[in-house]
Amino acid sequence: MTLRQAQDDLASARLLIVGPQGSGKGTQGIRVAEALNIPVVSTGDIFRANIKEGTELGQKVTAILDAGDLVPDELTSEIVRDRLSQDDAQGGFLLDGYPRNTAQVHHLDAFLGEHDASLDAVILLDVPRAESIARLSLRAVEQGRSDDTDEAIAHRLDIYEHETAPIISVYEERGIVDRIDGVGSLDEITARISAALAARGIAQLV
Ligand code: ADP
Repeated sequence: MTLRQAQDDLASARLLIVGPQGSGKGTQGIRVAEALNIPVVSTGDIFRANIKEGTELGQKVTAILDAGDLVPDELTSEIVRDRLSQDDAQGGFLLDGYPRNTAQVHHLDAFLGEHDASLDAVILLDVPRAESIARLSLRAVEQGRSDDTDEAIAHRLDIYEHETAPIISVYEERGIVDRIDGVGSLDEITARISAALAARGIAQLV
């Protein structure tokens, strides 16, 4: 079956990728979304683009991002609602960075429920803490992101552990979590994700 046919057969591909900072979820998310021809909706990217362009939203969230804190749930959820309402997201999407706590899970549930929709799969990238810290230090040197200071990294990892990790059990209860070993080459990890999605009847990516 070609990928095009696979997409035509696809019932829906509403996906979420979750993992600690440095797990590689951004990179894998882009690969998966490109293969399925669905947009990536990354809240971090949306905030950073607004900061770069100096929009009102950007000005509001700059200090929050630099400190590694979370942008208020209501504001973030409203932005995601708007983004998911656009035409290109009607055939599916891959969320990266949202929902990030249980309140946001409820906001997303409410929005998808209004459209008789729900998430089809949650890809959880498992990476040991030492490995993600090592990758983040490297990224700090390579990309110079303003929230990749030691202090902000530690704070973001703490928020992940206390607020984001608990959402995984919510989705596990719904039986939609695919736990993927996030250590290996980029291609190996993409192949693992692909196999997990294929097992759910979501198109084979590669
Ligand atoms: P990382 O996963 O490395 O922390 P992201 O790009 O996902 O990077 O997020 C960067 C920052 O953007 C977060 O530290 C936070 O300030 C803000 N942010 C992103 N997504 C959310 C969200 N769902 N809710 C609140 N704040 C968010």
